[in-house]
Amino acid sequence: MQLLWPDSPAHAQALRDAHPGARFVAGATALQQEWGDRHRAPQGCCLVPLHALEALRGIGLADGGRTLRIGAGCALETVRTHPLVIAHAPLLAQALDQLGALGVRHLGTLGGNVGWRWGDSTPALLVLDAQAEGVLAPDQRLPLAQWLAAPVPALPLLAALHIPLLPGCQPPQAVFEKAAVRAAFAPARLRLALRWSGIPACGRTLSHAAAAAPGLPARLLVHALAWLQQNAGLHGAWALDGLREACADDGLPIGHPEDLAHLAARLIAGHCGLLAPAPLP
Ligand SMILES: Cc1cc2nc3c(=O)[nH]c(=O)nc-3n(C[C@H](O)[C@H](O)[C@H](O)COP(=O)(O)OP(=O)(O)OC[C@H]3O[C@@H](n4cnc5c(N)ncnc54)[C@H](O)[C@@H]3O)c2cc1C
Repeated sequence: MQLLWPDSPAHAQALRDAHPGARFVAGATALQQEWGDRHRAPQGCCLVPLHALEALRGIGLADGGRTLRIGAGCALETVRTHPLVIAHAPLLAQALDQLGALGVRHLGTLGGNVGWRWGDSTPALLVLDAQAEGVLAPDQRLPLAQWLAAPVPALPLLAALHIPLLPGCQPPQAVFEKAAVRAAFAPARLRLALRWSGIPACGRTLSHAAAAAPGLPARLLVHALAWLQQNAGLHGAWALDGLREACADDGLPIGHPEDLAHLAARLIAGHCGLLAPAPLP
């Protein structure tokens, strides 16, 4: 195994780019799952460790208080318990509440969870409109969905995530769901986050939906959202069938053995109150 120690985030990016096949490593809690023997890195593996880079840590308000900036190197438990995250992005804290055990959350980082592509935080960050800050041009941020779309070996170093704050600094109404089979230590099958606009008392509208699953990188469910907008008023089985097709168009597998499109449709329909039959006129 070769370790290439960087002395700055930009150096880390340069080292990775100069060594084909090299990988960034932060807590290594996701990376080790790719190894045949989880206690030993594979022969010839080349890693760029990030955990000594102070510049990747820190949580604070940025852009004159308009965004919450979270360093990619922050441990998941630090993010989950940070007062600014709890106040402005409680959805992210809620997603991290359900991630692994305390030991994993102390080792694993937010950057590693996003770099893994289907970690619990990713759908939550997508519905919060998070932007990815790279290292070469920190002022040029990319929407997280676009950053995640980069090809795997070329996924650039994530320095920080920026979550825009709403006027009045009220956190958006949102929910995070993690669905798994009912067995001890069963890995989650689907991670889903939903966000509404509007005020509950005056009627609210689903404005964002995102999902991730093992092997299925996090994505915004744009077809599901469009289907809901075009089919307001459909309830019960009609709504479930239509939503399931729309989730399949968003790339969620349909049919046997993993009907994640059906699972996502049920969760969305349930949260939008569409599972009950339509009220009689
Ligand atoms: C027992 C156990 C339970 C777990 N349970 C869960 C769970 O419930 N939910 C969940 O989501 N995850 C879970 N995980 C996976 C893992 O712990 C988390 O995803 C964690 O956030 C990964 O962070 P890390 O720092 O360890 O990433 P690493 O393993 O170091 O890296 C993961 C990937 O991200 C890349 N990467 C790391 N940092 C950056 C960066 N700054 N910029 C770009 N790429 C980067 C790496 O190259 C690698 O491809 C579990 C792991 C274990 C061992």
